[in-house]
Amino acid sequence: MLRLKEAQAVERLHPPVEEPAARARLTVDLDAIGRNFAAVRGALSQGAASAVVKRDAYGLGLVPVVRSLAAAGCRIFWVETFEEGLSVRQVVAGARVFVLQGLAGRRPQDFVEARLVPALGTAEEIALSARAAPGMSVAINLDTGLGRMGVLPDTFREIAAGSALESLDVAVLMSHLAGFSEPDRDGNRSQLALFQELSALVPDALPSIATSSFVYAGPRWHIGLARVGSALYGVHSARIAGYHSEPVIALDAPVLSVQGLQAGSSLGYRGDRIDEPRRIATIALGYADGLPEAFTDRCSAFVNNRRVAFVGDAAMTTTCVDVTGLADTEIRPRQRVEIVGPNQDINDLSGALGINPNRLLVAFGLSTHRTYQGGAGHG
Ligand SMILES: *Cc1c(COP(=O)(O)O)cnc(C)c1O
Repeated sequence: MLRLKEAQAVERLHPPVEEPAARARLTVDLDAIGRNFAAVRGALSQGAASAVVKRDAYGLGLVPVVRSLAAAGCRIFWVETFEEGLSVRQVVAGARVFVLQGLAGRRPQDFVEARLVPALGTAEEIALSARAAPGMSVAINLDTGLGRMGVLPDTFREIAAGSALESLDVAVLMSHLAGFSEPDRDGNRSQLALFQELSALVPDALPSIATSSFVYAGPRWHIGLARVGSALYGVHSARIAGYHSEPVIALDAPVLSVQGLQAGSSLGYRGDRIDEPRRIATIALGYADGLPEAFTDRCSAFVNNRRVAFVGDAAMTTTCVDVTGLADTEIRPRQRVEIVGPNQDINDLSGALGINPNRLLVAFGLSTHRTYQGGAGHG
């Protein structure tokens, strides 16, 4: 067995090299994220913009993303967990950091010490915080119609009539709108009206209700603090006029091999027979890289800007594309094949698959090797 000391010596002799690995690669354009944040600010008729960087910044990498947002002037962040909050604090010393999970079983005092602000979502969390850490800064999450997380309206009216809120510094009152893909939906307007009625009970708290779609859906939604995720990362959360979010990611995968198959050969797990000779390139992209079901049936890849079809099914680490129409010089081992890029962005793929673009983004981001572009100092 290799003991730790020996293992460390081996490490020194053979440091792990960051090769342009024979793996799918996600390139994140940090400057584009900064520009998308600036566009959000420009679109708001009033109020401030904050960035949602939950789940490792939608899979794109918490630290580099937060750094580029801070460089673009962002000072308020929303994370999923306490641990993510600590990371943001380390990167941006003066940041205001809200934890969407709320206490999630931690002591209120932990948040005070870490200078993180929990988004309290139950009457119990509010009571516990008021008792255990009087004066602490909190956000309160109100459920105005999503039925997911947050204090229900009647419960909140009771709380506001009592004394618990007097022992807390309620910095933000937030709520989440259900119909993000159709901002004009009636349900959103009822939620907004209810939210405004409830926020009037705590006039000193900053109201926060708009997410990406609502930033671009007109001034009625621009109250207090907008919490924006998708629009920072190139995701169009609603198909509405004026929605702006430039592409942020590119995903490509290297060719591992190119093979000629004869007519009558079988291809893939389903054993499909081919009628004519074909040239097939195997690329290092599989379901372990976050490809959803049906990806190879409904989407294409691009080689030198030319569309190529997937053939067979995605395996764990490989898929195949049909390159019969390409010249020998156009397709060689190690060459990179575009999955997301200038020819098809994450929103196009989402449309072809009928799934939420964020689902694709986070799957690719958390599964593939990430590299960064722009964002001076850590490229
Ligand atoms: C994820 C999230 C957001 C961001 O929504 P986008 O549509 O991605 O802008 C805002 N608020 C809460 C509570 C969230 O969970």
